[in-house]
Amino acid sequence: MPEALANKIAAGEVVQRPASALKELLENAIDAGAGDVEVILKSSGSELIQVVDDGCGMSPEDARACFRRHATSKIGSIEDLERLRTLGFRGEALASIGSVAQVELRTKRTSDAAGTCVRVEGGDMISVEPCATKDGTSIAVRNLFYNVPARRNFMKSPATELRHLVETFQSIALSYPSIGFRLIHDGMEMHRLPAESGGFGDALRGRLHSLFGAEYEDRLVKVGEKTSYLTVDGFVGQPELNKKSRGEQFLFVNGRHVRNRSLEHAVYSAFEGLIPDGSYPFFALFLSLDPSRVDVNVHPSKAEVKFDDEHGIYNFLKSIVRKGLGTALLAPQSGPETNRWSFDPMPFSQGAHDGDVGAGPIPIPHQKPGALSDQLYRPPESGGSSEKDDKVRGDDSLLWQLHERYILTQIRSGLMVLDQNAAHERILYERALQHIEEGIGMSQQLLFPQTVEFSAADYDLLRELMPDLRALGFDIEFFGGRSVMIRGVPSDIRSGDEKSILDDILAQYKLNCERLRTPRKDNLAKSLARRAAIRPGVRLSPREMRSLIDQLFACEMPYACPSGRPTMIKIPIEELDKRFSR
Ligand code: ADP
Ligand code: MG
Repeated sequence: MPEALANKIAAGEVVQRPASALKELLENAIDAGAGDVEVILKSSGSELIQVVDDGCGMSPEDARACFRRHATSKIGSIEDLERLRTLGFRGEALASIGSVAQVELRTKRTSDAAGTCVRVEGGDMISVEPCATKDGTSIAVRNLFYNVPARRNFMKSPATELRHLVETFQSIALSYPSIGFRLIHDGMEMHRLPAESGGFGDALRGRLHSLFGAEYEDRLVKVGEKTSYLTVDGFVGQPELNKKSRGEQFLFVNGRHVRNRSLEHAVYSAFEGLIPDGSYPFFALFLSLDPSRVDVNVHPSKAEVKFDDEHGIYNFLKSIVRKGLGTALLAPQSGPETNRWSFDPMPFSQGAHDGDVGAGPIPIPHQKPGALSDQLYRPPESGGSSEKDDKVRGDDSLLWQLHERYILTQIRSGLMVLDQNAAHERILYERALQHIEEGIGMSQQLLFPQTVEFSAADYDLLRELMPDLRALGFDIEFFGGRSVMIRGVPSDIRSGDEKSILDDILAQYKLNCERLRTPRKDNLAKSLARRAAIRPGVRLSPREMRSLIDQLFACEMPYACPSGRPTMIKIPIEELDKRFSR
């Protein structure tokens, strides 16, 4: 097979769209040790994709050879293939790109007096000549797919291609915060990212700031954990940064940007109950593990990975994201180090991963009840005001009910405001879930059992839900026809409220089915919680408020009610100081 044809075929694999060409060029620049990289695009990459770097450059011989297939300088032996560390590894990218575009390469090593300019068109070398150019390499790819009409027609709208280009640029810029990047499209500067210094965490934070703005930087939650098997580093966005699409989700494995549905879901599920259904959290997370335990070579575009212990990684990732979120939401004003509570991530392969990701309630990690509330009320480990704050704990006189709907209380960092209805809903929801799972719901027997008539449809639904209703604490007897006798209701239901409870729960259940397609048990727990939670307008005694707060903080996810509304907000004392111009 003629080499030009082989290249053209390979191009179909390596270069599917402008963004994949950009990715290859950027990775080459990084492999070349660049400190500064500039990307120039025209017409969403269809006219021009140019990458200029200040890396090592190429000798005239290498410049001439690099468009040949398998002209890589990066693989020494077959063992290298198994433990890939450099980004490029097939020596196919430039050959492929050169076969489907008009390419101009200008390159020069510091040690050489002159540079080399190579022009390639549709796989043919047009010219090789010395040229004046600065140290480093510039590769300009013009009119991508000009000789492959089928591919050119296959390109999506300019807006879509640009979105992919920007995403590629962003993901690489995130992996290498110590390299400076610039992105120019149609003469407009879209990103200017200075090289960041410091450790990876700090550098990444700086990079996120210059990429996405201060709005993001203020709402980042640091996530980090190191084990002998796996290291995770990076940030997730606080729940407010959630998006309606999956756009800003960056997952890296050993420095490579990858898509992995399962791990994305692990992060997503750590946000359960914190963001509304159908929205997506922001994250930039870096996983590193022994390269022999991960297969990055399953797809030519190198975007997909396979792990030898995907379930273990799933559980690990989910646990530490949740831990990070808990810590950050608990005390947004102080550094993460002072706010650790004890938490054991699930051990690999022994976690309660439920197999079908996406369905069912999430398993509740083991956490001592009250650990969070201890944390919240515990005085700071250092600092002089600890003695005074100590008295806050358990002091009911520091609880206020505002307009019979909000509970105000002093916390270490300032003022906390709880929504009594949302808080109670969270408590009842988690309790109901546990009851359904374990079948231990307490029942309060009615003094006068009630007979209730249902429609045929509701009667059938009721029969279907019977085992779970019983687990929740309902004591129901089915009569002939469509009537049932209610002898007892869950003890969480306030007395005097028993009559319409079953009707209301059924109605809520059906609504949830239509709107959210919630799984059965979760739906039932949500419906009961929604129905039974104390409403605004109910006066609470200090003891009741205290008990509500304690129970809330014993919850697995205290910060939001089951439908995603916050249960509490915190107003830091610094915020009040600022408002009073102190
Ligand atoms: P690979 O990256 O897999 O080795 P490529 O086709 O991407 O294959 O590149 C071929 C070779 O060209 C590389 O191995 C490298 O020696 C050289 N090269 C490509 N881009 C650059 C660059 N920006 N700076 C220096 N050398 C480069
Ligand atoms: Mg390469």
